[in-house]
Amino acid sequence: VLADSHAHLDMGEFDEDRDAVIERARQAGLATIINMGCDLPSSAMAIALAERYPEVYATVGFHPHDAAKMAPGDLNGLAEMARHPKVVGIGEIGLDFYRDRSPRDVQRRVFQEQLALAAELGLPVAIHSRNALSETLEILHNWTRSLRGREGRGVLHCYSGDVRQAEELIDLSFYISLAGPITYPGARTAVEVARTVPLDRLLVETDCPFLTPQPHRGKRNEPAYVAYVVKKIAQVRDMPVEAVAEATAQNTIRLFARRRRAEG
Ligand SMILES: [Zn+2]
Ligand SMILES: [Zn+2]
Repeated sequence: VLADSHAHLDMGEFDEDRDAVIERARQAGLATIINMGCDLPSSAMAIALAERYPEVYATVGFHPHDAAKMAPGDLNGLAEMARHPKVVGIGEIGLDFYRDRSPRDVQRRVFQEQLALAAELGLPVAIHSRNALSETLEILHNWTRSLRGREGRGVLHCYSGDVRQAEELIDLSFYISLAGPITYPGARTAVEVARTVPLDRLLVETDCPFLTPQPHRGKRNEPAYVAYVVKKIAQVRDMPVEAVAEATAQNTIRLFARRRRAEG
């Protein structure tokens, strides 16, 4: 059993062969795929895919790249969408100071508004953070102070920080998700993270169509390839592949199946 905790199957890259991609995921043993939203249309598309494919679940949210697109009222739109039974989180949200496609002050505001929404709805968050991890951590420290329970609050997807920052996130009840880049030659810090993060805090993902793992690097990524990420983690931890697959699949379910307070 495998889970892909972060995918973008709604994207145009999959328009030609989406059914075949999902079928290959099934053949590879994937029982859970969490499809992210990046703005309102992609969030709606994520929900449509979740309705069509039993193993697909959706999150809704504005990606930091698309933060500037969030109009007044869109937060309510996300809240409405989040009522759907297959919406399991708010994401992907966060900060991207590498590409800076939306102004930083807008990214900060939109991130914090969506964190507040997630808290209100009792949903976990899927976080994107690039060249912005210290500021992301600062925001998450403040956010978690406003929360009550200690259950999983979210995941840092395609984690690219160091071991110490991973420990800080785990202390805040976050999960760490690793993607294709850990399979690349020269991946050192990410491999160290893969080796040291407690197994019950680790998720795996593809972020497909991006971040294709070895040996398919350079081509389109797809959920079935999450197996290469699992294999690499098993190798660096000197563990059976099955154990890593099982643990990361269970962790994905535990995080995203969190009971929603709004539903009582
Ligand atoms: Zn991302
Ligand atoms: Zn993504």
